[in-house]
Amino acid sequence: MAEINRAVKGTNDILPGESSKWQLIERKMLETAELYGFEEIRVPVFEHTEVFLRSVGDTTDVVQKEMYTFDDKGGRSITLRPEFTAGVIRSAIEKGLINGPLPVKTCYVGGCYRYEKPQAGRLREFHQFGVECIGAAAPNADAEVIALAKQVLTTVGVEKISLRINSIGCPECRKDYVAALKAYFSSRRDDLCDTCKDRLERNPMRILDCKSPVCHEIAAHAPVVTDYLCRDCRDHFEAVQRHLRAAGIDFTVDPQIVRGLDYYTRTVFEFVSGDIGAQSTVCGGGRYDGLIGQMGGKPTPSLGFAMGIERLMLLLEAQKTELPLSAGCDLYLAPMGEQALTKASELCALLRAEGFRVQTDLCGRGLKAQMKFADKIAAKYTVVLGDNELLNGTVNLKNMKTGEESVCPIDELPQALLNALQTAALDALTDTVEQAGF
Ligand code: ATP
Ligand code: MG
Repeated sequence: MAEINRAVKGTNDILPGESSKWQLIERKMLETAELYGFEEIRVPVFEHTEVFLRSVGDTTDVVQKEMYTFDDKGGRSITLRPEFTAGVIRSAIEKGLINGPLPVKTCYVGGCYRYEKPQAGRLREFHQFGVECIGAAAPNADAEVIALAKQVLTTVGVEKISLRINSIGCPECRKDYVAALKAYFSSRRDDLCDTCKDRLERNPMRILDCKSPVCHEIAAHAPVVTDYLCRDCRDHFEAVQRHLRAAGIDFTVDPQIVRGLDYYTRTVFEFVSGDIGAQSTVCGGGRYDGLIGQMGGKPTPSLGFAMGIERLMLLLEAQKTELPLSAGCDLYLAPMGEQALTKASELCALLRAEGFRVQTDLCGRGLKAQMKFADKIAAKYTVVLGDNELLNGTVNLKNMKTGEESVCPIDELPQALLNALQTAALDALTDTVEQAGF
């Protein structure tokens, strides 16, 4: 097929019929965030490349291999956002949000871009929902952000998912840890992959995140960071766990978790599912107390998480969670003839202004083909509008599920449709209640 008819590798179209699931999930995400006081922020899809270099870290996979970077026509180096945190923090510094009142609680949803090897749950354009809680140093902030992630997952219908948490300490206590890691990995240097040989020099903690099975196996026996935490970091981590328990959130401490981005300090966490294959991390996050200072803002302890929406969708599919298909059509108006078509335009305008989902013929079809179409779009009701109807001033409102018809004056169609939809909704509710055995 010619390229003109082919989507770029690693990108997906969210088609009509599917998009309603996305809308529902995104709405639930934003509504849940609202319960915790998080408000949406919208930042550009692209930033100066420097924004990501400074924040994500130049020894990470994201910066080393995955960024979509190009020069624009003005000669600026631009990068499509591989994640949101960097852009959100850039904005919070630039627009003065970090000057208070703190904490600033923001959330976002949108596309991210990474040049990766496409596979199930790994795309080149994918979507994240996430939050940033800027200016909160206390350990209950960590627990609250984790609780929010958990509630979002539960609210959209995730049934089984496990939370793993870890503390990777602060730059102070990490010095000894990194030295211990370096010593350990140096003793196994020959077995490490080439990338990790380089990581050994530049950032040995990154080796813990390597996806090559051999490095993974070597990393499994490496010194663990929790043995190296300073007093303050240890106290913080214990308090986070206390608050999680108080909120009724189950977790396991997994000292192997370091997360793929360089900016994390202290708490890091992941929500992992056993149901979606190799790309099992649905949500990852943590604290980044040093990031804002590193990006030129006044030091402001902060934290956040990001959730991959495609992976979440895979999980819901694996669980067979039923999500609504499209909102559908309340009424299909089937006009026959020029005069009826004009009347249909009038009625459609009237009904839509009242909030009904109404469709009519836009293809010049005959009645039979129109009814077939009404069936395909699962119209709840249909009305045929022909010469007779125009002459009598009445129409038949047909319930497509039961086949029942009721006569009503054309002028009273909005009220008749409203009554019919309400009755049908009530019947459906009664059925559900009866089926549930009440
Ligand atoms: P992984 O280890 O799977 O590469 P990551 O550590 O690079 O993930 P983050 O940068 O923490 O991921 O992004 C947060 C979440 O975004 C991930 O947990 C995942 O759900 C999702 N995500 C990341 N990269 C992709 C991708 N290429 N395609 C789809 N979802 C992704
Ligand atoms: Mg990755």
